[in-house]
Amino acid sequence: MDNDIAIQTVHLRKRYGRHRALNGLDLTVRRGEIFGFLGPNGAGKSTTIRILLGLLRPTRGHAYLWGQPAGTVASRSDDRVGSLVEEPTFYEYLSGRRNLQLLASLSGPVDLKRIDEVIELVGLKGREKDPVRAYSHGMKQRLGIAQALVPRPELLILDEPASGLDPKGLVEVRDLLQRINTEEGITVFLSSHLLHEVELICTDAAIVSDGRIVKRDRVANLLSSQETSVSIEVDDLERGLEVLSGLAFVSEAQQRDGMLTAVCPPDAIAEVNTALVEAHLRVSRLARERLTLEDLYMELMQ
Ligand code: ATP
Repeated sequence: MDNDIAIQTVHLRKRYGRHRALNGLDLTVRRGEIFGFLGPNGAGKSTTIRILLGLLRPTRGHAYLWGQPAGTVASRSDDRVGSLVEEPTFYEYLSGRRNLQLLASLSGPVDLKRIDEVIELVGLKGREKDPVRAYSHGMKQRLGIAQALVPRPELLILDEPASGLDPKGLVEVRDLLQRINTEEGITVFLSSHLLHEVELICTDAAIVSDGRIVKRDRVANLLSSQETSVSIEVDDLERGLEVLSGLAFVSEAQQRDGMLTAVCPPDAIAEVNTALVEAHLRVSRLARERLTLEDLYMELMQ
């Protein structure tokens, strides 16, 4: 198998009794990606992650980590995979540093230098001696990620790492994941139902619904391939609306709040402007509204 493939699932199926949670899920995640596994509640994200980590067996199909069947000793050998799948639990009365030491000691001799390195990496330096009970939810989340990073994994799998974080915590976790991807070269796979977060953090994403992948691409491509909304200010709104409504590449035109909006492919925006100018309208503003994965999601789910 290609050495650059970190995660691969082939026709993965999972039934819970009569309920089908995964319906032939095919997914490939490459080395170096920050991959967003995006979908609503119940789409099958946690089930997939549990199969990848060997916590659950698929009903049918296969899952591989670095080319090794998931759940086997080989796929987890050399600590190539770190994970955070549930809210991390710590000894609240012990310091963050002591917790990391204790948890690391469960799998062998403790490298204190590495403990200090990960504390620095997750931005807990200066707070590492405080008891965990004094940590915010975001700090605990970062301590959980620090724990997963101690063995220097090549792949980090996180189930909803942004869950329950306030805006400051979200920014901290987002920065951290981008840093460990670029500075430590770690491939990151995270699940989320927060479309905006995936857009901000991830290089690549797959949208999962009813246990199948409905779309997978670079985040930039996912965003640019869709129609976009453009807001326009002109000196004659009615005439402007008439012009926009007559353009074949404009799928929707509206007049609202003293402005016009047009929905069109991103590469047709310049032509919208040309058509208005050629109709002798004065265009004082033309701005593309940012498409979010949320728009994309709604479009795919229709
Ligand atoms: P969420 O964001 O809510 O965790 P998810 O995308 O992670 O959603 P899963 O937790 O994988 O989705 O669940 C997929 C489907 O399987 C859901 O319909 C869920 O109710 C069902 N399911 C999950 N675990 C079990 C279980 N142990 N027994 C029965 N059904 C389950």
